[in-house]
Amino acid sequence: MTYAMYSWALVLDDDPFVQKTLSRMLLKLDVRDVVTCGNAELALATIIDSGNSPDLVLFDLNMPEMDGIEFVRGLVERQYSGGLIIISGEDERVLNAAAILAREHRLTLLGQLVKPVSSSTLRKLLEKWVPKSVEEHQPISRIYSPQELQQAIQTGELVNFYQPIVAVSSGQCVGVETLVRWRHPRDGLVMPNNFIGVAEEHGLIDELTHAVLRGVFTQIAEWERSLIHLRVAINVSMINLVSLSFPDIVAHLAKDAGVAPRRIKLEVTETQLLEDLRAPLDVLVRLRLKGFRLSIDDFGTGHSSLAQLRDIPFDQIKIDRGFVHRAWADNTVRAIYDASLNLSRQLGFEAVAEGVEDRADWDFVRKTGCDLAQGYFISRPMPGEQLAQWLSAWESGVRQELMTSTKGA
Ligand code: C2E
Ligand code: MG
Ligand code: MG
Repeated sequence: MTYAMYSWALVLDDDPFVQKTLSRMLLKLDVRDVVTCGNAELALATIIDSGNSPDLVLFDLNMPEMDGIEFVRGLVERQYSGGLIIISGEDERVLNAAAILAREHRLTLLGQLVKPVSSSTLRKLLEKWVPKSVEEHQPISRIYSPQELQQAIQTGELVNFYQPIVAVSSGQCVGVETLVRWRHPRDGLVMPNNFIGVAEEHGLIDELTHAVLRGVFTQIAEWERSLIHLRVAINVSMINLVSLSFPDIVAHLAKDAGVAPRRIKLEVTETQLLEDLRAPLDVLVRLRLKGFRLSIDDFGTGHSSLAQLRDIPFDQIKIDRGFVHRAWADNTVRAIYDASLNLSRQLGFEAVAEGVEDRADWDFVRKTGCDLAQGYFISRPMPGEQLAQWLSAWESGVRQELMTSTKGA
């Protein structure tokens, strides 16, 4: 295996010994050229700003002048798009915090190297380098105007994607989650985190959610014609739930489409703090009375709270992917996952593990007996018309393969 795709790497560490060891290892692993530097400010000013930015940056978290966190911020400002590896002697939690920061900024973090660094760990990290997929590729922090978004909603540029949700015990696909995307004429497929906030802040979220709902019911009717009967989850904003007519709107759409309310699950995250919970509570209870199911999304992140669990008649908890992916490898993450799952069981809810990204995550959720799982390992979100094909591939092989027991367990 060769890593010539890294034509050059920058090692940023104030310790000359680490600089030397890492350069030697990188060159041995076929990285074409390595530059070392002991000062983050200098690295940003002379190297990254030179217009010939490195393909890979390995940097120390703890440096005397500008520290690693400030350096990450500098990279974000410069829209650095190469790979990143954090080197550190710090404890695991500090490393994790830095890793989360880098990922939140959509930097391509390949992983962490704990000192003393080993060549085999470094090689494994380099192997993880994959070019960003179309789905993940985003123009960095583009801000859309409310006018532009409103026009997009009205002209039908928003489209629904659907991500399968499977039963952990049998592997059977039991439902899908609806995830909205914007097919932007210039920017390509734009992800919801880039425009849901705009819709919420500028009074467009009701219009957006209605467009999503209409799309869902049309899609369900099409699936029914192909004999696909699934439960469908839809994300709703807290702001939608202030409008007292919301339950009637959803109920009418469901009735017109001939879809039983119990097949529809509304996922709620507390995205904006509402001072007055009376209206949302009223709406949620009425939705529940009409037979719709309610799910609390991103559980564990603080967007969703224990108080909501007490106050709102939920049926399901979705454990946020931050507490699922790699929970098997990290005691802190694992503790939060276990606590969420236990809470869900004690309250008689169904639990969904979000963000099952690889085989190890899948084996972990199976072992812990979570009810449902969702994540890239099972499938990425896809347009509705691709679901039939995915289902038949899943049923004709993948599912059996995933239900075989863990290697070595
Ligand atoms: P969410 O409801 O928690 O949805 C799950 C998000 O995680 C989706 O991102 C999905 O593509 C992504 N995901 C699924 N599996 C994996 C995995 O294995 N690894 C990783 N790293 N990510 C995974 P997406 O589609 O970008 O949506 C982001 C958020 O936008 C959603 O989070 C939801 O809160 C919001 N959203 C999406 N559609 C709508 C909508 O129609 N209305 C409203 N109000 N919010 C929406
Ligand atoms: Mg959701
Ligand atoms: Mg979620």
